[in-house]
Amino acid sequence: MLLTISINTRDRSEMIDITSRVEEQLSRSGLKDGVCFLFVPHTTAGITINEHADPSVEVDIQAMFNKLVPWEGPYRHLEGNSAAHIKSSLIGNSVIVFVESGHLKLGTWQGIFFCEFDGPRSRKVHIRFQ
Ligand code: ZN
Repeated sequence: MLLTISINTRDRSEMIDITSRVEEQLSRSGLKDGVCFLFVPHTTAGITINEHADPSVEVDIQAMFNKLVPWEGPYRHLEGNSAAHIKSSLIGNSVIVFVESGHLKLGTWQGIFFCEFDGPRSRKVHIRFQ
């Protein structure tokens, strides 16, 4: 079963914790043990798993990403958002989480983040529980 969650981002660069929304879809699906696949169908966004206990971690990740891949650069892509495409490839557009006893088997400090690199936009995350 393929599910989709919609996200409206507000900034050019943003990390949005979607863990509770994924857990909500999982509990509706009724799956007890299996696998949760998450896929972002965009070329200027991505998805990652990282610490969601301390919000300064996502601030640091974004700050260093912006330093590594500046918005202005010697890019050729005419749309003007090459930095977002590069960040999307660096962070990746899919993650897998195991499901155990009806819950995501994440580490204590882990959360699932949708990563916007060229917002604000309307975005989607596809989810498959199996
Ligand atoms: Zn582009």
